[in-house]
Amino acid sequence: MKIAMLASEVVPFAKTGGLADVAGALPKFLSPLGLDLRVLMPLYRETKKKNLPLRRIIESLEMDWNGEKTPFSVWESREGTLGFLLIERDEYFDRDFLYGTPQGDYPDNGERFAFFSKAALETLKHLGFRPDVIHAHDWQAAIALALLKFAYAQDPFFAYTRSLFTIHNLAYQGLFEKELLGRIGLPDVLFSMEDLEFFGKVNYLKGGILYSTAVSTVSRRYSQEIQTPEFGYRLDGLLRKRRNRLFGILNGVDYADWNPATDKFIIRPFDPTYLDGKKECKKDLLRAFSLDTVKEETPVIGMVSRLAGQKGFDIVCESLEEIFKMGAVLVVLGTGEEVFQKALSAAREKSPGSLGLKIAFDESLSHKIYAGSDMFLIPSRYEPCGLTQMYSLRYGTVPVVRATGGLDDTIQEYDAAQGTGNGFKFQEYSAAALLSSLKKAITLHRQKERWRPLVQKAMACDFSWEISAREYLRLYQRLSAF
Ligand code: ADP
Repeated sequence: MKIAMLASEVVPFAKTGGLADVAGALPKFLSPLGLDLRVLMPLYRETKKKNLPLRRIIESLEMDWNGEKTPFSVWESREGTLGFLLIERDEYFDRDFLYGTPQGDYPDNGERFAFFSKAALETLKHLGFRPDVIHAHDWQAAIALALLKFAYAQDPFFAYTRSLFTIHNLAYQGLFEKELLGRIGLPDVLFSMEDLEFFGKVNYLKGGILYSTAVSTVSRRYSQEIQTPEFGYRLDGLLRKRRNRLFGILNGVDYADWNPATDKFIIRPFDPTYLDGKKECKKDLLRAFSLDTVKEETPVIGMVSRLAGQKGFDIVCESLEEIFKMGAVLVVLGTGEEVFQKALSAAREKSPGSLGLKIAFDESLSHKIYAGSDMFLIPSRYEPCGLTQMYSLRYGTVPVVRATGGLDDTIQEYDAAQGTGNGFKFQEYSAAALLSSLKKAITLHRQKERWRPLVQKAMACDFSWEISAREYLRLYQRLSAF
């Protein structure tokens, strides 16, 4: 089977969040299952700076774009039957950020990602790589499926191509003005409720849901949640209509990158039988946040997250004083919305000995937090899958999460009597519920003889990609029967 995956960010080339981890790891686990795979993404400035081993395989390919012949180049990174293809067009992708500055999205994002999507289809044709399945991720690649259905409807090259559309976050839909349709090569008639129109705008993600052979999302729980008005972002009706073709496949972890025994970013390796290394990591983490005076037995709570409303920072900010009163220290690494940056910075000014804060995207520091914290806090309003709870488990850092989406699927409440569970979770979205759950964790943390087995149990949880990759393979195989 030939599979072409389209994603706007892929590890190690570019990353802003979980999509990049997934689009980088899943192909590595699919390829040994006998698939011929190409992963297509844009070539960003960030990628160029990394000096990764890329080879230009197409010097210049021209395509019709907004009434003109427009050239682009293609770079490749190849390992056997797995190839990563990067579309280079500097006008669109040679910028400081992937999607926008801290002040807001780039105004031409609709055009940029439609260009990427169309160039990806043209690249496949040029290379003679006729995909059995196009697997598009999120709104940035969703529009490829609209192009495939309409602009390429008569193209025999794609006559037998099926498609899978994966939603990593339903809240980001790619909404643009109606005028864009003509510019990206789609007929104006698609601006109707049955097609791409959505409350007066063109909705790229809606195209992915409508025109794909099947839709998937990144946990079973989230696949159900998005069919309700609460989580459906006004697309729940459409998703309910497609529910027979809607699947939930949990993301996995690439334990080659996320393993405390081999992690090159942490000061001392450790494993379930050697937890002294974790103590060293805790000291190192506290040093990195200038919290050197914090005592060894003090519970340290870590957070690595986009600073966004989705991630629960309003209830975190509301809880800070109580958290500090409980004698815990919080370390936060994140980038994003200014309101949360300001609120956290102000709290840090007020309680410098209890709150460590770094406003940045920092891969190396993120590993130090997973390794050096005692607990990991994820109080999300909603969470399609969530990777950080799975990473922290492997590093023996006990997750305290809100029971939603993938967090609910992966974390079971610890039960002292039964000795079951791998973390703590709360239902209600409130500071009170967060604090009550955190309190349970902090109380248990004081009882070393009980805490240690929980840490070891957490480390033994297995969310490796092998299982989920096989589920994707089975779904690819089923698509031809749909
Ligand atoms: P989302 O995709 O919604 O942001 P996920 O939990 O699926 O959330 O994935 C987040 C990924 O991004 C994880 O790999 C996490 O470590 C990483 N990450 C988030 N914020 C930062 C940051 N400020 N610095 C480094 N890594 C980060």
